[in-house]
Amino acid sequence: MAELSGVEPDEAAAADARGCPVLPSPQEPAPGPSTRLCTHSDILNLIVQNASLPDILQVITALVEREISGARASILLLDEDGLHLQVGAGPSLPAEYNTAIGGALIGPNTGACGTAAYEKRVVITASIADDPAWDAWRPAAEAARLAACWSTPFLGLHNRVLGTFAVYFDHPRDPQESELALLHDAGYLAAVAVQHDHVRRLLRETARTNPLTGMPNRIVLIEQLRAAEADAAETGQRFAVIQIGVDGMAPINESLGLSVGDAVLRIVAERLTALFGDSGHAAHLWGCDFAVLVDALGSDDEALAVAEKLRDALAEPLEVEGMSLVVGVIMGLAVYGREVLDGPRPIDEPLRTANVAMERAKAGGNQQIGVYDAKSDPGADVILLGHALRRGIDEEELTLAYQPVVTLAEDRVDHYEALLRWNTAQGIVPPDSFVPVAEQTGLVGDMGRYALRRALAELALWRARGEQAGVSVNLSVRQLSDERLPDVIAELIAEYALPAECVTLEVTEGVMLTTSAVGWDVLNRIRDVGARISLDDFGTGFSQINYLRRFRFDELKIDRTFVRDMDHDVAARAIIVGVIAFAREAGMTIVAEGIEHRRQADWLRELGCTHGQGYLFGAARPEPTG
Ligand code: C2E
Ligand code: CA
Ligand code: CA
Repeated sequence: MAELSGVEPDEAAAADARGCPVLPSPQEPAPGPSTRLCTHSDILNLIVQNASLPDILQVITALVEREISGARASILLLDEDGLHLQVGAGPSLPAEYNTAIGGALIGPNTGACGTAAYEKRVVITASIADDPAWDAWRPAAEAARLAACWSTPFLGLHNRVLGTFAVYFDHPRDPQESELALLHDAGYLAAVAVQHDHVRRLLRETARTNPLTGMPNRIVLIEQLRAAEADAAETGQRFAVIQIGVDGMAPINESLGLSVGDAVLRIVAERLTALFGDSGHAAHLWGCDFAVLVDALGSDDEALAVAEKLRDALAEPLEVEGMSLVVGVIMGLAVYGREVLDGPRPIDEPLRTANVAMERAKAGGNQQIGVYDAKSDPGADVILLGHALRRGIDEEELTLAYQPVVTLAEDRVDHYEALLRWNTAQGIVPPDSFVPVAEQTGLVGDMGRYALRRALAELALWRARGEQAGVSVNLSVRQLSDERLPDVIAELIAEYALPAECVTLEVTEGVMLTTSAVGWDVLNRIRDVGARISLDDFGTGFSQINYLRRFRFDELKIDRTFVRDMDHDVAARAIIVGVIAFAREAGMTIVAEGIEHRRQADWLRELGCTHGQGYLFGAARPEPTG
């Protein structure tokens, strides 16, 4: 056996800078063995792209096999115990041989790889038949028709051996210097890939466990919840989430110190793990809060029994640093079945409700286990309404009502504002109640598109009847993050063969404060389509006139509160005068909202306001009424 020094990553990194010709494509003839392995960047790319370790190792072996004629490459990885080698890649070796060497113990005289890993040096076996170090492995090698083997260990941090890179031949042979350099490079690349994989696994672990207790964290619990929900949907099996808050930690931390406090939480974690295993069904959420998922429930009472068992287990005194401590626990219990999957909802809804139940129990004083009750949960309205709204949109319970916007000079209808109405079996729900729900539950995109399509389709019908009207449709600020929106509007305008300028989109002042670069871009692109853009409810938000320099709106709507107050509030009147002057100067149409009396309309007209909307001219109706 020849002896050479081991490959260390730092050395190999320097070697990389030597500059090598590009590796040929498989069709081209392979160059002589003088070519160095120089597709480092290919391998590094694979690593950066998060390819799996076995895939990367296999590519490295293929590269070397392409460079050294007749070579069959093998990568073995050293186990955590530092004693055994496992096969990382060996695609050209017979499966029986790979199986035989998998799990091999390293040591002196244990073939080329076992010795290389043990002695941290390159081991060259030019002829397996003549090398006593191969006595134990010779039968397997001969069965695989392997006659020579050169192996180099590759090392990681603190010179720890990570594995070996070896090439085999079917006839006895010694390496050339350039071939050894190639092995060295391949070992280096394997070391980079293995270390990256270690870090990746470590990060994944850290991202999924609580650093203090090592318990699975919320992410893991949510995954388990997903599985339980899928089960519930399929089989109707019920499951429960119990949130557990450890009470009385503040005095422990304050009087005995944080390390005692940490130890208490670790013991709580151990007890929960002992009860629920480390299946991810028990998790440390944050701080003093834990949660468990109890699936496959026979009955809701069973969930309560589990909570009581937990309470008893945690009530036992905890031994910390020679002290016997007792902590209190407060729990929140939420039980679910099929209904949890019904409609859009936050991904961790069962956790949220268990938390609501726990907070209720806390607020209730001496109660230790709170059971979730939707009636005392303000968040439930949003969820329940969200479910119903989803159905409302799908089943077309939403309709539009049209309110005229008139010219103040002649009381002639200029266009109609489309306002959503939701006709439920329980009566009409006003948009002020459901539009915010749509925004919170992610339904606003679907709802908005529905309103747009319906408004434009109906406008096309009226125009076909000879009406010269236009329509304005309200857009929620959230819809402006939908980059497809301008195209959707353009397609609808084309589909219904409408002049683009008879379509107006109304956005509220919030747009000025919350809109991102994407939102402004969407707004600009809608205007490029030829539609008008109107600033709704002007004066109610926090925006200043200064903001209006950011975007040239076609229309500005003075909020109805100013119109309501103008006859008794000088400031309201002054703002109206100022806004009218500004809009006129900037060439914008101005619409006063909420005109209920003739007197208001007259005043506004005299002040120079051109358009108005309000009950005086007509409330919103299913059909246009001018
Ligand atoms: P808005 O855009 O300011 O719509 C005008 C609201 O004022 C309408 O209420 C209308 O019925 C009401 N109104 C009209 N004239 C008068 C009046 O003379 N006096 C009084 N006191 N009120 C008057 P509605 O239909 O309940 O709509 C409320 C809000 O819901 C709308 O306010 C708008 O912000 C939102 N909304 C309606 N439809 C949609 C929609 O399709 N999409 C979005 N995102 N929001 C919508
Ligand atoms: Ca509006
Ligand atoms: Ca308005």
